[in-house]
Amino acid sequence: MPRKKEIEEKLKTVNADIGDIIRIIRNDEQHEGVLMPHHEFSDDDIITIKLKTGYNIGIAVDKKTEILLVQKQKTTEKQTKRIPYDQKKPTISIVGTGGTIACYIDYRTGAVHPASSAEELAFSVPEIFDLCNVKSQVAYQMLSENIEVSHWQALAEIIAKELNNGAAGVVIPHGTDTLGYTAAALSFLLKNLSGPVVLVGAQRSSDRPSSDAAQNLIAAATVAATSDIGEVVVVMHGEISDTFSTIHRGTKVRKFHTSRRDAFQTVNDLPLGKVENGAITLHAPYRKKTTGPVTTDTNMEEDVAILYFYPGMKPKDIPEKKGIVLAGTGLGHVSTKLLPRVTKLIKDGTVIIMTSQCLFGRVNMRVYSAGRDLIKVGVLSGEDMLPETAYVKLMWVLAHAKNKQDIEQLMMTNIAGETAERTKSNAFLQQNN
Ligand code: GLU
Repeated sequence: MPRKKEIEEKLKTVNADIGDIIRIIRNDEQHEGVLMPHHEFSDDDIITIKLKTGYNIGIAVDKKTEILLVQKQKTTEKQTKRIPYDQKKPTISIVGTGGTIACYIDYRTGAVHPASSAEELAFSVPEIFDLCNVKSQVAYQMLSENIEVSHWQALAEIIAKELNNGAAGVVIPHGTDTLGYTAAALSFLLKNLSGPVVLVGAQRSSDRPSSDAAQNLIAAATVAATSDIGEVVVVMHGEISDTFSTIHRGTKVRKFHTSRRDAFQTVNDLPLGKVENGAITLHAPYRKKTTGPVTTDTNMEEDVAILYFYPGMKPKDIPEKKGIVLAGTGLGHVSTKLLPRVTKLIKDGTVIIMTSQCLFGRVNMRVYSAGRDLIKVGVLSGEDMLPETAYVKLMWVLAHAKNKQDIEQLMMTNIAGETAERTKSNAFLQQNN
């Protein structure tokens, strides 16, 4: 909520602006620090200052609280710098979409802001300029839970344009919550990639000492600028300390932890490789970049849902849709009580794909009668696909297939590395061992 007018007046009276050092005297306490921007989640009587220790504290200000201006801010050199250009280096394009990673530190206050220009984004990690030239733009400034299909489609067009205009690779800073969905979606929407498309996020914002933002961005830029990958990949911390970053295939990756820096893992496969001390090692087969041009194929049927089965689920809990991805139990099951509903929906034209809530391992509906019954009524197997990958794939397939047979065939075809005939048995929570 906005700050109270009386408090704004107090600050104005002493000529205190954001970035200035102020002293707040309240009862017999005194606090000195840099005046921070007012946060919309803060109460209306709070002034936030950054202490010398780097910590931000919010102080409740009342009528008796005194505010003194200690020092006006100094403009730092960094603010006036321009993005450097070296014609011997490759140029990457950074396309910001939002999330913690797309925020930069204001060098005056140490506050984290969403970057709204190319310079701000690039200067958040100036080390990248040692590696490559940076062209950058902000496509969105969104929390990733608000990203929709239309954002994936527009993003695919921007990426194709950047690569076709000569970028060696594209880095997409993205909120981590739905980063896996966007990575999977872009994997289907972009064709004939002439360079790596690297999604990257941060679990901890760049004003925290434990932030993963800088390492992740540098590793992502390294992959974009110097690798010969022609796929959509995700680059994030490989383990909790700052040792290496892992390169995951966009259709096989999921956020497994709410807060750990190594939250992302490859599912049902091994990661493509890693970035350690600036060097890329690729140890799994990958699609190599082409000479272009990159094309897009962005039609998607949006009337698709993912449904997580739970004991007690009722037939009416399964809606009428063009497509449904079920996250069933174990090898791919739902309660037999749901069978008549599933049968009717399929008869009426809904395409239903079975995946597993187990995440690791492959769906196999042939083992138990419950599964065989589902196959009989036309439920298709999602094989070793993540439910979210099956979801974006089904949206794409429904917009491209001409008939039922086409749908079935496309769902079974490996289009973007999303499914393999055999799942490597050692691809189970490998990355953190
Ligand atoms: N919910 C936010 C998002 O996914 C969290 C911030 C982040 O992870 O970047 O955008």
